[in-house]
Amino acid sequence: MIKFLDLQKINQKYADELKKEASDVIDSGWFLMGEKLNTFEANFAKFNGVKHAIGVANGLDALRLILKAYIDLGVMQKGDEIIVPANTYIASLLSISDNNLVPVLVEPDLDSYNLDLTLLEAKITKRTKAIMVVHLYGRVCWSDALVALANKYNLKIIEDNAQAVGATFEGKKTGNLGDAAGFSFYPGKNLGALGDSGAVTTNDDALAQHIRALGNYGSTKKYVNDFQGLNSRLDEIQAGFLSVKLNYIDDENSRRQEIAARYIAEIKNDKIILPVNTNDVKNHVWHLFVVRTENRILLQNYLLEKEVQTLIHYPIPPHKQEAYKMMNNESYPITEKIHNEVLSLPISPVMSDDQVGVVINCINQFCI
Ligand SMILES: *Cc1c(COP(=O)(O)O)cnc(C)c1O
Repeated sequence: MIKFLDLQKINQKYADELKKEASDVIDSGWFLMGEKLNTFEANFAKFNGVKHAIGVANGLDALRLILKAYIDLGVMQKGDEIIVPANTYIASLLSISDNNLVPVLVEPDLDSYNLDLTLLEAKITKRTKAIMVVHLYGRVCWSDALVALANKYNLKIIEDNAQAVGATFEGKKTGNLGDAAGFSFYPGKNLGALGDSGAVTTNDDALAQHIRALGNYGSTKKYVNDFQGLNSRLDEIQAGFLSVKLNYIDDENSRRQEIAARYIAEIKNDKIILPVNTNDVKNHVWHLFVVRTENRILLQNYLLEKEVQTLIHYPIPPHKQEAYKMMNNESYPITEKIHNEVLSLPISPVMSDDQVGVVINCINQFCI
């Protein structure tokens, strides 16, 4: 079986280094807010070229805390609107509604699967305070036009960078493009911990300081609480693991890019729509390799018979979920089309050339 993502194999490569981090932490008896976190935060800020990286408990919290801090700092208030792509993982929206802000959905374009800028301006109202861009599947969602629009209406740009760690736009890393960014280190992400964790990056000193306090009960000094915060911290043991894996992320992303380039060059089947306009490899770190086809279940079952595992990211768009009942009647046909047709092929840094070849051959022989 060619696994969709072989997490065991991915982490096995670094097992000795990871075990050393775990035993360091066990031996130290220090589990939270210590040297391992400080080191990872410094390494991660440097990697992204930003002033501040703040470790938090997960990717959803990273986004929640950014918005919560903006509310505390008076940049936005309850009931304000945040623009977010309709085609995203539901966590992007949850971070907004959890703060009593209103997610305003914008359709993606069918080429990049990312926010369609031509549709964005019409959604801006007096209450709009920020645009949350999502670098979906690992593909950078950024342009000068986006920045111009944000400047014109005085909007913050928040990056949901859960899927594109290490990608760059004109030499700048995602996570250093907007006003603040949320990262996820969920085990299946490109930079995966061995459990939950996440981070916020920003160049904004006041925002960074506030988020740091908010994630620790709103406290800057033990038992002194300046704000009503949360408990959202990145454990020492996960920070240690992440510092190890950060050393390899560029190599791993390059391997993903190699595999994606082969898929794009060698898959030849007119029933399958491949990712398009991906010529600048640095702008895509291929968290997912997503193809579209009219009858994806046939393709998925066929590949499973050939022992190739695939997944669907994602089967139901946020606005069609029970959790967002109030949006169920809204219509986002491009988002819905994408959700009905996508299938994610196996892609990971530990896939062998032979395995990539098998996937390509199987798809090339697929006919309906
Ligand atoms: C994974 C993911 C998140 C949430 O991250 P968690 O660490 O699972 O909370 C948010 N947004 C997107 C686009 C994601 O893929």
